[in-house]
Parts: sequence; structure tokens; C-alpha cells
Amino acid sequence: MNRISWNEYFMAQSHLLSLRSTCTRLAVGATIVRDKRVIAGGYNGSITGGDHCIDHGCYVIDNHCVRTIHAEMNAVLQCAKFGVPTEGAEIYVTHFPCLQCAKSIIQAGIQTVYYAQNYKNHPYTMELFNLAGVTVQHVPFQQNQLDPQSVQKEELVNELLLEVETNGTSDESLSTLKKRALQLFSS
Ligand SMILES: [Zn+2]
Ligand SMILES: [Zn+2]
Repeated sequence: MNRISWNEYFMAQSHLLSLRSTCTRLAVGATIVRDKRVIAGGYNGSITGGDHCIDHGCYVIDNHCVRTIHAEMNAVLQCAKFGVPTEGAEIYVTHFPCLQCAKSIIQAGIQTVYYAQNYKNHPYTMELFNLAGVTVQHVPFQQNQLDPQSVQKEELVNELLLEVETNGTSDESLSTLKKRALQLFSS
């Protein structure tokens, strides 16, 4: 049995949440955790009842979509709305936070930021995190970590590819199949 770690579990939760994103530019998810319990979650999307980017296109000003509230902010605001303390909490984000979200994370008293992907990492963001004593840790995440049978599936596909190769097919179609398999299992 493959028991996943807490980091993997909470990071998976953020990636699951990012699938709820309504902005076509980037799908981000954030999970706030205290004492190994999820206390809030968010994804980047419009205000409640507002138009969605996926239906009406992004509202872009200065190369930023201004329609959406970022995932981290949504998670923090969920705590504000329901009166849940964020002091000493941790946040798991799919992408390195922007400067605005980083400042909110700091002010909310969140102590640790785990992020899966680098994204336009601003040096000033890191400077502020350091100044505030916030720990920042990179936790790489692969989509297939959500699938407990991904290893078996990859093995099966590799076996099938070998079978196809042995039984004969054109070099071109074999290389296309191999490329597709590689894409599927490396994302
Ligand atoms: Zn948008
Ligand atoms: Zn942000």
C-alpha cells in the first residue's frame, strides 16, 4: 500500500481545487491547513454571482485579468467570512504566490507556504516572506500523483508499446505513440 504524505495530500487538494478555476489564463488552487486539517480552500475565480472568464473572456488590464480573485485570497477570505483563525496556519498553493497574495498571506499570520510550481516569482515576494519569517518550501507535484494506479498504467502502456514494436509497425507511428505515452505520463 502506498500511503501518501501530508504534503502530497494537501498539494493534491490544491490541484483538485484548481480544476474549479473559471479563468482561462491560469488555473490556481490554494488550501489552508492547521494542525493537519484543511480549514479553507480557494481557486481563482470571479466574485460570487459575477461573470466568468470562461463564459465572457478575461477582463485584462495591464496584462492582468482583473475579473478574478486569486486562489490564496479566496482561501484567506473564506476564513474571514466564517471566522476561522489563520494565525500559525500553512498554505499549499499550486503556483508561487503573486506579491499581493503574499502580503495577504503574511498579514493573515500564515507561517508556511508550500508551492508546487514556480510562477513569475518576484524577488520582492521572497524578500517579504523572509522578513516576516514565513517558511517557503517547494513541493513538486505531478498530476499522476492523484492516480494510485499510475505506475501500473505506465507499465502496461510500455508493455503494449514493446508488443507493437515487436509485431511491427511503421517507425513513424511508433514514434508518435511513444511521444504520446511520454506526454501522458510526464505531466
Ligand atoms: Zn480571467
Ligand atoms: Zn495572487
